[in-house]
Amino acid sequence: MHALLVEDDDRMAQALGTALAQRGHTVRRVGRALDALRFVREAEFVLLDLGLPDLDGLDLLRRLRTVCDAPLIVVTARCEERDIVQGLRAGADDYVVKPFRMAELIARIDTVRRRTGASAGRFESHTADPAAGGRPVRAGDVEVDLAGRTVTVAGAGVRLTRREFDVLAFLAARPDEVHSREEILDRIWGDAFLAASRSLDVHVAGIRAKTGRPGLVRTVRGFGYQLGAPAVRDDER
Ligand code: CA
Repeated sequence: MHALLVEDDDRMAQALGTALAQRGHTVRRVGRALDALRFVREAEFVLLDLGLPDLDGLDLLRRLRTVCDAPLIVVTARCEERDIVQGLRAGADDYVVKPFRMAELIARIDTVRRRTGASAGRFESHTADPAAGGRPVRAGDVEVDLAGRTVTVAGAGVRLTRREFDVLAFLAARPDEVHSREEILDRIWGDAFLAASRSLDVHVAGIRAKTGRPGLVRTVRGFGYQLGAPAVRDDER
């Protein structure tokens, strides 16, 4: 699973990162609260140190909980009962006090993950617009079923990656609007200023290629994208 490790101490981060990697997890380590907020949406579980340089850990914990419900364990030197109670009240699933035995932390991670039923399914992005309702959105001969998360071209199913579908669904939910790159990055990647900027282009290219309808996503130069009305190629008429 993919872990977000929020820890400003390099040696501690190194030890934790190695232990998690040995258990088969992938790890993104960040040392600042700002970066934790930036990357939390991709995390399947979170280890959070409370003593961070740029924001109090409990404040960060509350903020993380507004955007992410992944299992979260506080790993901290703060050992007062008051701190532990506050941490749990703020939304931590467990609380481990430094110094700790690595085996114990790993066991607690496994327990929390089991208890919270961590699975890929609960981290589906929330991009489908409920207001768009049950009917598929049509663009030329392309149908995008937002609820069923399927795409057909001329009646035949097309397999998109989850992110590709998220981007297409986001445009299809409001087909009359042009969406800025920042808006799309913010909604799908959770960060308007991410290095994912390049990644958005790659996903749009993927949508165009896999559907065989380059006009399905219209580029509005210097601004963003809109759902297009793709022409059917002559040889398919
Ligand atoms: Ca610290």
